[in-house]
Amino acid sequence: MLSACAKTHQLTVIDAGHTLTEYGAVSCTDRKEIAYNDDLVMEISKELIRKGEEFLLTRTKDADIKGTDDLRQYLIDPLDDEKWQKYKCLYSRIALANEKQAGLFISIHHDSVQEHHLLRAEDGKIIDVQDDFKQNFNPGYSIYIACDPKYPNTELQYWDALKFAKIFAKKMQAIGRKPSTYHEEKTGQDNYQSIDLFLGIYNSKTLLAVLRNAKMPAVLIEAGVIVDAEDEKIISSQAFKEQFAILLVESIDAFFGQSP
Ligand SMILES: [Zn+2]
Repeated sequence: MLSACAKTHQLTVIDAGHTLTEYGAVSCTDRKEIAYNDDLVMEISKELIRKGEEFLLTRTKDADIKGTDDLRQYLIDPLDDEKWQKYKCLYSRIALANEKQAGLFISIHHDSVQEHHLLRAEDGKIIDVQDDFKQNFNPGYSIYIACDPKYPNTELQYWDALKFAKIFAKKMQAIGRKPSTYHEEKTGQDNYQSIDLFLGIYNSKTLLAVLRNAKMPAVLIEAGVIVDAEDEKIISSQAFKEQFAILLVESIDAFFGQSP
């Protein structure tokens, strides 16, 4: 017998990490992290629209705001989008997601590595990571969630955030993405603790403002490593961005229990 239960709509907030002034890392092709985040969030948005999901964006590309792009209608704070680009802090992003009672918050980023692992040209530009880094660590994706007794919400949301992280990590691995393992080497600090090294899931205790202030399950995904020449090429490809978007939206559906 069929149940009369309708598909429940759950709101997901997608955050393209950083702002124009705090643009994050710079890649081995001299592109800013924010550009990679924006490109990927664009593909994710297209897929969310295609699947009819309920979602909001914390920001969109500057060019889209000035242009006619219809992603503008998905902005969490549409009246204030110019300011979002330049000034809005991470605390405001998560505060608005809390206010909208979102069921899931996903912040999209791209990773760099520590300075001593970088290979730089004479002019200072990044060429690649060092050979020994390639030999010792996998450049790939990583997923952060927060669990910090100082922020009781993080403890409340921990298991659900971990559930989403695991669903998505398994899908990444199914397409051959490797988890980055180099976050483990930062000894002497407990900002990053591995929760599941095999799946590339970490606890971020102190650094990630969006995670520790979330009142819903929240994850921060580093989609790839933009200072690694090989990985930069993969994550820049249209095929990868589309596949990432499909798998992320499948994960959102699975998380909300809309697929087996
Ligand atoms: Zn970032």
